[in-house]
Amino acid sequence: MAYKSLSSWLSLAQHSPWAIPHFNVSTTDQVQTIVEVCVEHASPLIIGVSEGEVDFIGYDVIRDVVTLWRDKTGLPIFLNADHHHSLESAKRAIDAGFDSVNIDCSLQSEIDNVAETKAVVAYAHSYVARKNFSRSFEVNVEGEIGALPTQSSEVMNKRVKIDPATLTTPDQAQRYVDVTGVDRLTPAVGTLHGIEPGGRNPHIDIDRLKQIAEIITIPVTLHGCSGTPTADIKKALPYLSNIHINTDLRVAYTKGLRSEIDDTTTPYKYLTPADEEMKKVVEKYVKLFMSAGKVV
Ligand SMILES: [Zn+2]
Repeated sequence: MAYKSLSSWLSLAQHSPWAIPHFNVSTTDQVQTIVEVCVEHASPLIIGVSEGEVDFIGYDVIRDVVTLWRDKTGLPIFLNADHHHSLESAKRAIDAGFDSVNIDCSLQSEIDNVAETKAVVAYAHSYVARKNFSRSFEVNVEGEIGALPTQSSEVMNKRVKIDPATLTTPDQAQRYVDVTGVDRLTPAVGTLHGIEPGGRNPHIDIDRLKQIAEIITIPVTLHGCSGTPTADIKKALPYLSNIHINTDLRVAYTKGLRSEIDDTTTPYKYLTPADEEMKKVVEKYVKLFMSAGKVV
């Protein structure tokens, strides 16, 4: 199919009841597993790496691996620098050739968040002009306003109380988007990073999400959806372009790894069940987000 930019895909999903899955990775075998499922189900996808994940894997390595799989399969596979907390780290991703940056200064004051995000937008949007690429290329910037109450993707041992005052208001979202010029927005609408005990994560504040999506004219992304009730995700889909999944993948991968690690010292033997467990989770979310069959 003809090349479509990430912005085009996000816009397509914005006006349809499905969303592009964003899967975080730490290793290259995880990329291969995720891509295989998305090829099988003809789904566009975004591979994400946080600052910690990319410190381990390397900016140039993940860029080359994603490029290799994109060229090999013809699938729209995009690469996002997830939760990059400063202009400095965002520049590293942009300079490495990432398709997208999630600049997350949501724990800073609104004034500081806006200033840092504006600087990233200016750098990202001028990057393409400075490089004079021969092919159509752009860097899409995702900003965050309103903070998710947890920072790490992990299985927690107690429930988290979400303070409604930390959630994003429609006015706040509109002001932030207008001032920063971001290409897509992550609001805080009740989800959290990590998984709560029993996998019973909080409900999405659908009314708040709907109001935000209607007032801003750019695509909306939702983070922290591992463990979120399926019914909530279905209700949220018309208002979303892109949904992030990380913890569920980590839990599945680790479960598979533990099943073999004591019996063998051969990496391809203990990594195979890890990837197989993760594959089931990827498949579940591709179906739930209704992104299957969108690549024709
Ligand atoms: Zn996130």
